[in-house]
Amino acid sequence: MKITILGSGTAVPSLTRNSSGILLQDEGVNTLFDFGYGTLRQLLRCGIDYHQIHRIFFTHNHPDHICDLIPFLFGSRYYHEPRTRDLEIVAGPGFEDFFRQMIDVFGSWLKPTEYAIKIITQDEEERSYGSLRVLSKKVKHIAMSRGYRITDSKGAVLAISGDTDYCQSMVDLGRHADLLILECAFPDDMKCPGHLTPDLASQLANEAECKRLCLTHFYPPCDLKKILEQMKFQGQLFLAADLMEFSI
Ligand SMILES: [Zn+2]
Ligand SMILES: [Zn+2]
Repeated sequence: MKITILGSGTAVPSLTRNSSGILLQDEGVNTLFDFGYGTLRQLLRCGIDYHQIHRIFFTHNHPDHICDLIPFLFGSRYYHEPRTRDLEIVAGPGFEDFFRQMIDVFGSWLKPTEYAIKIITQDEEERSYGSLRVLSKKVKHIAMSRGYRITDSKGAVLAISGDTDYCQSMVDLGRHADLLILECAFPDDMKCPGHLTPDLASQLANEAECKRLCLTHFYPPCDLKKILEQMKFQGQLFLAADLMEFSI
């Protein structure tokens, strides 16, 4: 599978770090994990438009992970080229209610004209989606938050935290993963509840014994402090930049 970091940033608008989004491409299927603001344009830079996304997983519904769902749904109604491919959206419990309320706020403007949307609530379980098996577990951020462990047909494993604090479930999701994409929102001396620091991300990744670790979701202080020097991870470490690619 091929993985592209669409956004390595956060809630704070930035010209260099888009808010959260990860593109996974496998066997001709484009899967999106989170859809923060600016992600639609990042997808265009990867040659992918609103017709070509097959499935969207959400880690949770904070705006920096979800906001571009609105222009995506609106654009998919474009009269001369409407989206015709049905869409699956997968998220934790509570998302379906949130989604219906969001659609209602806009009247008919986000409702599909030529395709159907199926909302799949996935709690703590493993399900198959085409060539991928996806295990989800609750992680420590908000009630809806789910981390994911994705296994392709060749056995390659990707784990994605979304936003989380240190928790055993994220260690389990990242166990021996070929690539663990972990949030690292703040430097060690600016710890914020519900988020990781280099110290905690190192501990989590070392316990998971993942092969490669990519840190992402950097609030601005992370670009000013020496995150790399604060890391104690024993494997191969990457600090995410927008449009960084991995093949596993
Ligand atoms: Zn976030
Ligand atoms: Zn969040």
